[in-house]
Amino acid sequence: MNRPQRITVLGATGSIGLSTLDVIARHPERYQAFALTGFTRLAELERLCLHHRPRFAVVPDAGAARQLQTTLSAAGLPTRVLVGEQGLCEVAGHPDVDAVMAAIVGAAGLKPTLAAVEAGKRVLLANKEALVMSGALFMQAVRRSGAVLLPIDSEHNAIFQCLPQDYVRGLGAVGVRRILLTASGGPFRETPLERLPDVSPEQACAHPNWSMGRKISVDSASMMNKGLELIEACWLFDARPAQVEVVIHPQSVIHSLVDYVDGSVLAQLGNPDMRTPIAYALAWPERIDSGVSALDLFSVARLDFQAPDEQRFPCLRLARQAAEEGGSAPAMLNAANEVAVAAFLERRIRFTEIASIIDEVLNREVSAAVETLDSVLEADRRAREAACRWLARAGR
Ligand code: NDP
Ligand code: MG
Repeated sequence: MNRPQRITVLGATGSIGLSTLDVIARHPERYQAFALTGFTRLAELERLCLHHRPRFAVVPDAGAARQLQTTLSAAGLPTRVLVGEQGLCEVAGHPDVDAVMAAIVGAAGLKPTLAAVEAGKRVLLANKEALVMSGALFMQAVRRSGAVLLPIDSEHNAIFQCLPQDYVRGLGAVGVRRILLTASGGPFRETPLERLPDVSPEQACAHPNWSMGRKISVDSASMMNKGLELIEACWLFDARPAQVEVVIHPQSVIHSLVDYVDGSVLAQLGNPDMRTPIAYALAWPERIDSGVSALDLFSVARLDFQAPDEQRFPCLRLARQAAEEGGSAPAMLNAANEVAVAAFLERRIRFTEIASIIDEVLNREVSAAVETLDSVLEADRRAREAACRWLARAGR
């Protein structure tokens, strides 16, 4: 293809969105922003539009659209501003788009990400919640449409890099024994257990190695992020939950490993900067400059590993339980977690109550088979209601 590839960035104003635009801007001959979307950070979206001159922008409501449209038109830009979920789905599946970065956080990203998959796009998946919620349906849609699904999550991108180039499905067929999913352990890896109930949102969001959005930062602190990633790995690589082992590796230099039956273990290493997996997924199977500096092993000096402590990180156990249960359990786990994390960020609950809420929701709500998108959305809704009942009962 001689013309630049046209890229839709769903969630352009977020941490992954901005890193994606940074990589795109380094290669104007290869990539061009086609559509950019934002939700609350609309001044940032305006700045990004003025810089990248996309064909479309998407905002949440008509008032915001009028305002952005007026500014962009006055600046002489041809950008059309669209509105809401329908606008997101339109720019995700637009016939002129080559690749879609799915970087909206949470369940809000499900429909637009699926729209990109159903249109058979090259889909760069950061929005792990979409896959966790609708795994079987999502992967069926990938197979049906011929979409090329490339993982952005650093761990899954690492695993993808450690599997054979022509890997399609079936770990056993290519001699894989286990997937080793690394985790930093987050900011509370060594905090005394009795202090965990009192940690603040600021402490939870201060990740030692990665700079990320607030929701995923809290998920990393509780290790629910690793739980969601375990489920994500099962869908992406056709693995059983028991084949995925979580390894705490505080330096975040090894991004994950694949253990083969002959005793070989392949790992991908690099500085913790999301521009590496983003650049790999954008250019795959080629490699391009991402702006990330070379890894200096002498300054890293040592690599440590430890097993996760389930008493400290009950969310990891809950996620494994949901992965094993299957059906709508992962969607309910995700929904309960989204409600609980939002309540924690608003200081309505304690950090340790995130796991209590999810535990109760998973125990009270019966998991069912998920055969349609509506059944996924129904499970999501029921779990959110159950989590809100917990909050109401506790007077939060
Ligand atoms: P951020 O919170 O930084 O960004 C989220 C993006 O989604 C923003 O553009 C935000 O818009 C938009 N958004 C939020 N809610 C809605 C909604 N209801 N409708 C439409 N758009 C919405 O998150 P991250 O970039 O950190 O994470 C994005 C995704 O990538 C998550 O699923 C996360 O798990 C995953 N991921 C992130 C990593 C990281 O290093 N950051 C690593 C691996 C995975 P606005 O900002 O304008 O409100
Ligand atoms: Mg990750």
